[in-house]
Amino acid sequence: MTEYFEIHDRDGPARSGELRLETPRQTPGLVDDILVDAGSKWTEERDQPEGDQSALTNLPHRALPGGTPDEVQEAFTVEYPDVDFPSAAVVSSDTATDHGTDAYVLSNAQELSGHAAAFVEAIIQTREAIPADTALYLPGVATPGNVATLAYAGVDLFDTDRAVLKGLQGKYLTTDGEAFLEDLEELPCACPACQVPRSEFDREDCAEHNENVLRAALATARERIKAGRLRDYIEGQARHEQWHTAVFRRLDQQYSYLEQRTPVLRRAELTAATDDTLRRVEIQRYAQRVTHRYRCRFDKPLVLVPCSAKKPYSDSQSHGQFHDAIQYRAHLVSMTSPIGVVPQELELTYPAQHYDSVVTGNWTATEIEFVADVLAAYLEQNEYPRAIAHLPEEYREICERAGEQAGVDFEYTAVEHPTTTESLSTLASMLSEESKYLKRERQHNTIRAIADYQFGEGAGDELFEELSVGSRYPKLRANNGDGEQLAMLVPQYGLLALTIAGARQWVDSETPVKRVEIDSFVPHGSVLAPGVVDASEGIRVGDEVVIEGPKAFAVGRAAMSGPEMVESTRGIASSVRHLEEK
Ligand SMILES: [Zn+2]
Repeated sequence: MTEYFEIHDRDGPARSGELRLETPRQTPGLVDDILVDAGSKWTEERDQPEGDQSALTNLPHRALPGGTPDEVQEAFTVEYPDVDFPSAAVVSSDTATDHGTDAYVLSNAQELSGHAAAFVEAIIQTREAIPADTALYLPGVATPGNVATLAYAGVDLFDTDRAVLKGLQGKYLTTDGEAFLEDLEELPCACPACQVPRSEFDREDCAEHNENVLRAALATARERIKAGRLRDYIEGQARHEQWHTAVFRRLDQQYSYLEQRTPVLRRAELTAATDDTLRRVEIQRYAQRVTHRYRCRFDKPLVLVPCSAKKPYSDSQSHGQFHDAIQYRAHLVSMTSPIGVVPQELELTYPAQHYDSVVTGNWTATEIEFVADVLAAYLEQNEYPRAIAHLPEEYREICERAGEQAGVDFEYTAVEHPTTTESLSTLASMLSEESKYLKRERQHNTIRAIADYQFGEGAGDELFEELSVGSRYPKLRANNGDGEQLAMLVPQYGLLALTIAGARQWVDSETPVKRVEIDSFVPHGSVLAPGVVDASEGIRVGDEVVIEGPKAFAVGRAAMSGPEMVESTRGIASSVRHLEEK
């Protein structure tokens, strides 16, 4: 239960929020000046501190070194009292548990920080052992170079100890690493501490500079989290230092930790600049859903085409030309790094129209392997009467590799480039014998494909058994056989927003429902976390959820993951789009 910490924005495991002290402190942030330590119980018996609203009081504690045997740890367990001021408890990664405080201090963070794997494991172990809506403080570790990555891992609070110490040792810190002060001919910084002549700049100034840069780095992290773009930033930072690269890669290996905290949609664009992008949850999740949940409902040949820089693809000039050649006689699937393959029905679906990649025409070995694997899995899942690769020469290796794995022989139709007149007329003539599909079929298949992607395998048929589609693409409205609206396609994210009738259909179907069970009240606009009785484990930020309690049946969009809704005592758990009172 926390009263004094509140999360406002989430970006993967990173959160931005505030410590609600007399003067609120933004997080991720520094606590040097607001932390009061009531002391260790090792040295003397401590009285309960009085505490007050202006500070975060570290309750009397008894820290134990890492690796202390369980029975010893238990014998020295500290009972934390219930206090009415902002408080923190000292924990180690092995013994972390819910003590009812607003913040938790990871006591062995510093000793672990040299070893990337153990360090990442300790942070995650602690983060998962303490309530989701409490703050995690890592003392003595922060530098301007690592705070963004640590915030990405789920750390909220830091101090200036390490940055100051390094400064006094003559190490000049920047967001991309550190330099020996003696080696610097000029000071590459505009902070107040650096406004003295180089010859007069001493180690005290260096410590002050380090602290300034750390503050700026935290402000950058907060802004990035609010914009949903922290990951892009740390992918760039990870290149500068081995330690970052190691921590960042170790973190990426904790897929389920990251996945639970990564939203299924965002407003922000995703920048694909390096191979690290391929490990992003958003990319892996899309590939997983396209190859496992999605199924092609068109009984037509497959035509593989390259993606376009313009999104959605169908708005681009090249895809306009492909469309003119194909004329509804084939199923269009775009190939792209970092997404893999994008069937035409899912071109709007996050992140297919939300990424920006560096188009060099030369794919890295990792990209080729990733896209070939996704394509092979896709071809194994979806059988086509024919498969045409209308792609530039450099994609050929991928098609051959995937085709061999899936037992598919491609017909190649592009000469030099897919948009040359010759290539386009070859494509058109290869399809001349095929019949066209109707607009209605295209619309129905789009709604059902998105439902499969969003709600799970088979959901398209379960939720939209009888379907009539109204309005124009991309603002499609899905109605049932009686003309009652079930859902609407949100063009911005390429996902469906359900109506009450749609939610009822979902509840009555075989498709697993994401449910939020609430107390006896009628939610208006949103459901707050304290009102949540239970929530499905699988709920992710951005998911459609059915909200139900003794007094209401509603549908909305999750603002927290399921586990976080259950654990949290503050904040919005879900929005409410449509509501029926009982
Ligand atoms: Zn400076």
